[in-house]
Amino acid sequence: QVGSRGADESVDSVCPYCGVGCQISYKLRDGTIAYVEGRDGPANESRLCVKGRFGFDYVASPQRLTVPLIRREGAPKNLDVDPTNPFTHFREASWEEALDAAANGLARIRDARGGRAVAGFGSAKGSNEEAYLVQKLIRQAFGHNNVDHCTRLCHASSVAALMEGIGSGAVTAPFNDALLADVIVVIGANPTENHPVAATYFKQAVKSGAKLVVMDPRGSTLMMRHATHRLRFRPGTDVALLNAMMNVVVTEGLVDRDYVATHTEGFERMEAHLAAYTPEAMAERCGIEAGTIREVARLYATAERAMIFWGMGVSQHTHGTDNARCLISLALMTGQVGRPGTGLHPLRGQNNVQGASDAGLIPMVLPDYARVGDEAVRARFEAAWGFPVSAQPGLTVTEIIDAIHAGDIRGLYVMGENPAMSDPDVVHAREALAALEHLVVQDIFLTETAMYADVVLPASAWPEKTGTVTNTNRQVQMGRPALPPPGEAREDLAILVDLGRRLGLPWDYAHARDVFAEMARVMPSLANITWERLEREDAVTYPCPAPDAPGQAVVFGDAFPRAGGKALFVPAGLRDPAETPDADFPMVLTTGRQLEHWHTGAMTRRAGILDALEPAPTASLNPRTLARLGLGAGESVRVETRRGAIVLDARADAALQEDMVFVPFAYVEAAANVLTNSAIDPDGKIPEFKYCAARVVRA
Ligand code: SF4
Repeated sequence: QVGSRGADESVDSVCPYCGVGCQISYKLRDGTIAYVEGRDGPANESRLCVKGRFGFDYVASPQRLTVPLIRREGAPKNLDVDPTNPFTHFREASWEEALDAAANGLARIRDARGGRAVAGFGSAKGSNEEAYLVQKLIRQAFGHNNVDHCTRLCHASSVAALMEGIGSGAVTAPFNDALLADVIVVIGANPTENHPVAATYFKQAVKSGAKLVVMDPRGSTLMMRHATHRLRFRPGTDVALLNAMMNVVVTEGLVDRDYVATHTEGFERMEAHLAAYTPEAMAERCGIEAGTIREVARLYATAERAMIFWGMGVSQHTHGTDNARCLISLALMTGQVGRPGTGLHPLRGQNNVQGASDAGLIPMVLPDYARVGDEAVRARFEAAWGFPVSAQPGLTVTEIIDAIHAGDIRGLYVMGENPAMSDPDVVHAREALAALEHLVVQDIFLTETAMYADVVLPASAWPEKTGTVTNTNRQVQMGRPALPPPGEAREDLAILVDLGRRLGLPWDYAHARDVFAEMARVMPSLANITWERLEREDAVTYPCPAPDAPGQAVVFGDAFPRAGGKALFVPAGLRDPAETPDADFPMVLTTGRQLEHWHTGAMTRRAGILDALEPAPTASLNPRTLARLGLGAGESVRVETRRGAIVLDARADAALQEDMVFVPFAYVEAAANVLTNSAIDPDGKIPEFKYCAARVVRA
C-alpha cells in the first residue's frame, strides 16, 4: 500500500527492536522514511508499539558514521569524545586503509600471541547472516571459539536450562497461543514495556476469560492491572516460590502422572527434593502467603491449557539457570507442554537474539547449538567448512573482559554491540576496552564502545540492509533495504566479507542469500526454509516439515529432542544472590529496559519522539521509600553500590517493593551498569543485573 499518507514507496521489513518481530512497512517520501505501518505478520497482525511505529528517525541522525575512522596517534581512550565531532580523537580514512588497519592489527596479535589472544562480539541486532559470518570469521581466522554476543547478558541461563531439560533452547509455542490458554503465567517479565505487542495478546486473552498470574518483585503496573493474581515476591527468591508451587502440585495429587511417565525422566528425584519446600516453609522467605502459593499452584496445575512466559527477571541472576529449571519442571509435572495453548516461552529480548544464537554466535556451540567438544559435531562442520574447529569452548562476554584485564586477550572485533554500556560493572569493562592493543568496532554511531576503538567501520542501519532475523516465536523473517547507507557507510555483510578476505579467508559471498544458503546446509533447523521462500512468504517458522508446509508453531507434543525423547527434571536448591543488602547498602538495585528506550540507547536516544517521551534517566522508588528518605519525585538522588555511584532524578513507582530501586540502562549520563555486579550464574554465565546491594541518598 503506497500513498495513503503521501508516501511514494513502500518497503516491507521487520521492526528492528524487540524479539516480538513485528512486520512493518517503511513508507518513503523523497528518499527518506516518512512513517512506518504495521503489517499483517504472524507475530503482530498489524499491531505495533511506540518503538516500532515512531522509532525510525535514528537512521537519519546527523550523528551517523559516514566515513571510516582511525584513532589519532596518542589520542586518549576514554568517553570524552563528542559523537557529533569525533575528529578530535579520530581521523578520516579510506575504506582500503581502514580495512587494512583493522585486519592487520588483529592478524598481528594472532601471529605474535596465537589466535586465542583475539576475540569477537557479534550482535543480536544484526541479521542471521551477519551473526553466522561473525562466528565463522573468529573460528576460521583465529582458530578458536572466543566469540559471543549479548545473549550472554539476556537469556543464556534460560537456554542452558532448556537445553539441559528439554533438549532445545527455543520456545515450545508462540506467544500468540496465549489466546488459547486458560491460565497465563508471566514471571520476571514486563511485557507491556519490553514486549508490548506480545502483551496485547495477553490482555486480549484475559478479556476472553483467561486467568493471568503475574509474578514479579518489581511488579508491572500495566500488566498487574489485568492480572487475576499478583505475586510480588521478594527479589531473588524465585526458586523458593516455584519449588513451593511444585510442592503443592506433588502433595495435592495434581501431577499429570501419565504425562510424567511417558514424556519425562528423573521425577522421583524431583519429588523427593520438593518435600522440604512446603508453602508454609517458603512463605516468609519469598514474601507470599502460603495460601496464595497454594491457590496459584492449583490454578496452573488444573488448567486445561496453561502457558508460562518469562523474561530477564528470571534469567539475570546468579541462580538464573535454577530459576528456569524450576519453570521447566513445573510445566513438565503438570503436562503443560506440547499442546496448543500450553508451553514454555522465554520472551527473547532483541530482535534477533534467537537467530544469532541459532547461528552459533556462542563460544561453546556451533550453529544449531552443536557442542564444540563433540568430535562428531566438529567433524561434520570441518567437512562443510573446510577448516579445523577448536574443541575447546571459548570465553563468554564477561570472561573476555576479564581475560583482557589479565593480558590474555589483546585484540577485539566488535560488530554492533556496546559493551561499554551493556556489561556489568561497566567501569571495569571500559578499562578493559582501553587496555586493548587493537579494537575494531563496526557500528552505525560512535557508540561508547567505538570511542575506545582503534578503527571504526561505518555500517548500515537495519532499514539499509538485506537479511533475515528470527523472532521469539522461531519465525524466520525477511528484512529488505528501504534506503542506501549514508555517505561511505556500507552494508555490514560486505564489511565482514572484506575483513574476512583481508584475514586470509577464501570467502566469496556476494549476497546475504549466499550466506543463508550455506546456513541452511549446515543447520538442520532451517530445513525446508529457503531464501526464495522467505522472499515470497516473508516468514516461516522452524522446524518446518516440508518445502510447502507451514512451520511447526507448537513443538514436542510427541517427544523431546533428547536421547530417548524424554525431558529431564533437574531439581534446584536455594541460593542467595551474590551480594545481599546490609547496613551500608540496605536496598536492592534492579536494572532493565523501559518502553521508549532500547538497550544501551544507541538507536532510541537518537529517535526524536522516543527521546522526547523519556529524555532523562530516572531512579524508580516506591512512594513510601521516597517519603522515608525525605525525598520527593523529581528530586535528584544518588544511587550507590560497592562499584560506583550515579546521580539521576527520582521517580515514584508504587509497583516497586519498598526496599528496591529500579534504574534503566539506556543512559550514558547515569549508566546503570556502573552499579551492577559482574558475578555470574555458573551454568549460563549470565551476570546478576537484577540484584545487587545499593543505597539511595539525596544528591
Ligand atoms: Fe517492535 Fe517489539 Fe514494538 Fe513489535 S513490540 S513494534 S517488534 S519493539
